[in-house]
Amino acid sequence: MENIIILGSGCAGATAAIYAARAGFSPLVLEGSLPGGQITTTSEVENFPGFPEGIDGYMLTFNMRQQAEKFGARFEVDQIESVDFSGPVKKLVATSGKVYEAKSVIVATGAAPRLTGVPGEKEFYGGNGVSTCATCDAAFYRGKEVAVLGGGDSACEEANFITRFASKVYLVHRRDKFRASDIMVKRVTGNPKIELVMNAAAERILGGADGKVRALVVKDSLSGALREIPVSGIFVAIGHIPNTKFLEGALPMDEDGTLVSNDNSGVHTRVPGVFIAGDCADRHYRQAITAAGMGARAALDAQRYLENQ
Ligand code: NAP
Repeated sequence: MENIIILGSGCAGATAAIYAARAGFSPLVLEGSLPGGQITTTSEVENFPGFPEGIDGYMLTFNMRQQAEKFGARFEVDQIESVDFSGPVKKLVATSGKVYEAKSVIVATGAAPRLTGVPGEKEFYGGNGVSTCATCDAAFYRGKEVAVLGGGDSACEEANFITRFASKVYLVHRRDKFRASDIMVKRVTGNPKIELVMNAAAERILGGADGKVRALVVKDSLSGALREIPVSGIFVAIGHIPNTKFLEGALPMDEDGTLVSNDNSGVHTRVPGVFIAGDCADRHYRQAITAAGMGARAALDAQRYLENQ
């Protein structure tokens, strides 16, 4: 049986692994479907303390992982599909069929990109013009026109990044005000390759004879008028959904699936020995550094829990 199993290897999970490993608990980290977590899809992280020149998102969690392994953490790729937290031994059943047992579990499964659900989105997703990862796919749109959907920091950051490749980026937001921070808004409004399309809700995505995206249709939320924007690519950046479905019934969560702590710690749950950290348990801050902080707290409390057993 494991001392501590950590679900997720993003900033929260990897930081929890550093703390738990350094304390001598040799944690097992199950990496899930996106090793390194969401930050690996960010080109440059400018606000993680300690990197005045910024750091590539992939390198950030890669470094964390190396740091954790140095102290004895073990990483495996496996996906948990159900859990039994009813007894002192926590049981986790993986899609591989393997059953893991642990005295303590830290859930740091992060979140997955939200989609709009408009017609055409699913059809053209992944290789045919609809993407949720500018870092991964922007280079395919060199010299082409694309749209980015969303009005938060992610949408602004992606729009800016994509202008390194695309000839023009339409930033399409459903309201007339950005949710993004002022600095990000300044960057997009000051970028001559970005056209803002405000008060515009995505209506549908149209494909061409080649089976790839050829246009985005948006509806003006004030006039109701439809506009067809000819684009080869559409980047959806409208937030994320916590990766917690497999925990339904086992841990308390809110209506969006964000795990809820049972006290002010933010990392304790009503199940003794089960802790939560990072974007799967944070609907407010959702930063790399806040996820790392939660990971550290969860690991420290898991250690205390194990020492008291
Ligand atoms: P977010 O802040 O939740 O913003 C999501 C945006 O998508 C909002 O503008 C929202 O519109 C829009 N939206 C949601 N559902 C939609 C739908 N069905 N159709 C159309 N638009 C929809 O998400 P985020 O931008 O991913 O950012 C998440 C967190 O990460 C934030 O705390 C952010 O500060 C942080 N972050 C920081 C950085 C950075 O500092 N460099 C970079 C990326 C992310 P409404 O505004 O109308 O609700």
